[in-house]
Amino acid sequence: MKGIFPIEKFKTLQTPFYYYNTDLLRSTLELVKSEAGKYGYHVHYAVKANANQKILTIIRENGFGADCVSGGEIKACLEAGFPANKIVFAGVGKADWEINLGLDRDIFSFNVESAAELAVINELAEAKGKVASVALRINPEVDANTHAYITTGLKENKFGINLCQLESVLDLFATLKNVKLVGLHFHIGSQITDLSSFQSLCTRVNEIQESMYKRQMIVEHINFGGGLGIDYHNPDRQAIPDFQAYFAIFNKHAKLRPSQQVHFEPGRSIMAQCGSLISQVLYVKEGSSKRFAILDAGFTELIRPALYQAYHQIENISNDEAVEMYDVVGPVCESSDCFGKEVELNKVHRGDLIAIRSAGAYGEIMASQYNCRQLPKAYYSDTL
Ligand SMILES: *Cc1c(COP(=O)(O)O)cnc(C)c1O
Repeated sequence: MKGIFPIEKFKTLQTPFYYYNTDLLRSTLELVKSEAGKYGYHVHYAVKANANQKILTIIRENGFGADCVSGGEIKACLEAGFPANKIVFAGVGKADWEINLGLDRDIFSFNVESAAELAVINELAEAKGKVASVALRINPEVDANTHAYITTGLKENKFGINLCQLESVLDLFATLKNVKLVGLHFHIGSQITDLSSFQSLCTRVNEIQESMYKRQMIVEHINFGGGLGIDYHNPDRQAIPDFQAYFAIFNKHAKLRPSQQVHFEPGRSIMAQCGSLISQVLYVKEGSSKRFAILDAGFTELIRPALYQAYHQIENISNDEAVEMYDVVGPVCESSDCFGKEVELNKVHRGDLIAIRSAGAYGEIMASQYNCRQLPKAYYSDTL
């Protein structure tokens, strides 16, 4: 699949850099819109996956809302033109200035993760003479069957209000005048490829809703979060994830009242396949039992392999010579700075360009300057 990259143009650019396929992004957004549109679902893009202004602008132009987890992300979204009433703000540790920013801009909702946070939002809203719209993030205690670091919906995770505390938080709500309960929010984890986890989430949400009906409570919005996984092993086989099956699960299993609006917050599934990290081979080093391809990109540009033992497909896009085995590593002074062990690559030479695929989500945005390295640049298929 060397054909998908403009190699001649790449040769004129300083590596390492991120390359985004904006055509694929637009097709992905079209599909999400049409599949979610079938059921009238609302979609807020999870900004933490990738917050480049150009990416945010394309997503905003397609009518999506934004799911933010920091004041910085709210600012980035406002700058990209998202209307404040399409911004939701989640996160287990919101600072006062971040809450105040959300209040000043009248964002759509605060997804609140604890009783302590609810009290602070009430207090800050009162000081401004406002009433904050709040969705309670509930920890549904559903296993997402994914990597431990990206599982969020288990009892031991720091996220959300535990089921056993829900009653007391609802009681607290009744005593606070400057917060209004508009919804329930759930997010069980990321890179979920077993869709039955989402069915389990629906079952749990149905139970919670039943218990709330008993208190004569029907919230207006139910937010199922994000988490749909992508195929890291075959980035070209299914470049657009199966959003049809994904939304159909919720349509089939979630029991909703007619007045209730349904929301989703996909991040990875929208962005991951749209980006690759492009790097150059600095050296081929023969070890005692191994051969290393040493790249000019490291975990400073893409930390997922080091952080989550994540797999990314790696390709030599410069030539077609017979395949050999390499450990593909970066220049950073840490042994974890390794993109893949025993990777089959077309024979590698100094100067060859290497593409690390499926890096559009949680790639560039997690870059660091460790070892005083420069942050990577980004280029886009429609403007290169
Ligand atoms: C990270 C996150 C998302 C997006 O998750 P993806 O796996 O990228 O789809 C959605 N909602 C919340 C609250 C999140 O923290």
